Amino acid sequence: MIAHHKAKGLRAGQRRPAKELCSECGLCDTYYIHYVKESCAFITQQIESMEATVHGRSRDLAQERELYFGVHQEMVAAQKREPIPGAQWTGIVSSIAIAMLEQGWVEGVVCVQSQPSDHLAPRPVLARTREEILAARVNKPTLSPNLSVLEEVAASGMKRLLVIGVGCQIQALRAVEDKLGLEKLYVLGTPCVDNVTRAGLQKFLETTSRSPQTVVHYEFMQDFMVHFRHEDGSEELVPFFGLNTKELKEVFAPSCMSCFDYVNGLADLVVGYMGAPFGWQWLVVRNDTGREMLELVQDQLQVQPVSEAGDRRAAVQQGIGAYDRAVTLPMWLAWLIGFVVQKVGPKGLEYGRFSIDSHFVRNFLYLRRNHPQKVDSLVPEFAKKIVSQYRLPPQ
Ligand code: FAD
Ligand code: SF4
Ligand code: SF4
Repeated sequence: MIAHHKAKGLRAGQRRPAKELCSECGLCDTYYIHYVKESCAFITQQIESMEATVHGRSRDLAQERELYFGVHQEMVAAQKREPIPGAQWTGIVSSIAIAMLEQGWVEGVVCVQSQPSDHLAPRPVLARTREEILAARVNKPTLSPNLSVLEEVAASGMKRLLVIGVGCQIQALRAVEDKLGLEKLYVLGTPCVDNVTRAGLQKFLETTSRSPQTVVHYEFMQDFMVHFRHEDGSEELVPFFGLNTKELKEVFAPSCMSCFDYVNGLADLVVGYMGAPFGWQWLVVRNDTGREMLELVQDQLQVQPVSEAGDRRAAVQQGIGAYDRAVTLPMWLAWLIGFVVQKVGPKGLEYGRFSIDSHFVRNFLYLRRNHPQKVDSLVPEFAKKIVSQYRLPPQ
């Protein structure tokens, strides 16, 4: 049992041992800050050894699917037969959480609602009812201190818990898992990339959307478009290739420019979209616990096998140079390229690899330029192998 005392005189947000690389995962807002040195994803990156602890083995780097998508038993594409209105996609994440709670598998769920004054700002909660879980549906596209509710979990005396979260939160959670006094922890992860602070989000919206103040939801989708949904229900599409690279280079949080856990390697079950056909969700079952979680909602889903088409490599290589020179294309050309790439570009799992390659190379170059002494420890072996497939600009 650890000594449950709060560091005296500290307010939330004051101590961040990872300094500028902190992703605000919330651990340091709790007394588990005692373990920050060995738990923080940006101080001690240990995805591969933790995979062995959590899943019984590390990912097999010789198998392309594991190299990219992590340890898994199965991947499928799925949709809810009856989507949850207002969910990010069809609401598979919220549905699993509700089923686990209502069938008595867990007593509470760590998830993220919105701040009452700002629907895009996160408010992590320990949900105990269906309504509280539903109120957390849809992405809050900003860094979110999910682990800040871990003290509330301990105080509640709960023994069975579900945590929903992104990679950096889950890495820190797994590192303190055996300190939480739980009988069973379930982890439902989402992929995550390019996250921002609330101020960064404002800049992104103002640079990219025609009406930044009315955006309720957005996603970078497999059709190479950013899809914005507005308050009046209208949808706005902006091609990836038309983004203002120069302005946006500074927008993403330094943590997210240094992150290689895009696919949330330590969750039991991952629910995203990027390895699935357009409109479908992409599910990665990592271990037996994840399989049980998915089986619980199987009758609410229609499912199809994952598939892949195209070859990402030339597009990734070309993108490296364009990003480096901060090229911004005129909108008509961006639409044209977007249209062509949609028709002939990478699809399904190959789209997933396109996105992973592009982000890992960008992040590797960011670390090499800004934190060269951290490249070795913060870049996991699988990411080094992925990046080594490409020609990089000279140092
Ligand atoms: P819903 O039922 O709507 O539930 C969404 C859940 O997300 C809620 O339970 C909520 O607690 C949780 N959540 C919301 N905001 C946050 C946050 N900031 N931090 C942690 N948890 C949060 N998928 C991809 O395939 N590729 C990506 O690049 C990608 N990027 C993402 C970036 C972020 C910041 C987030 C939060 C998710 C991202 N996803 C990505 C996952 C994807 O957008 C969907 O969240 C996922 O497919 C689940 O959809 P759903 O309809 O089942 O979720
Ligand atoms: Fe603490 Fe989390 Fe920030 Fe690391 S990322 S310094 S664990 S709040
Ligand atoms: Fe955390 Fe990585 Fe997502 Fe940033 S991109 S919020 S560091 S998981």
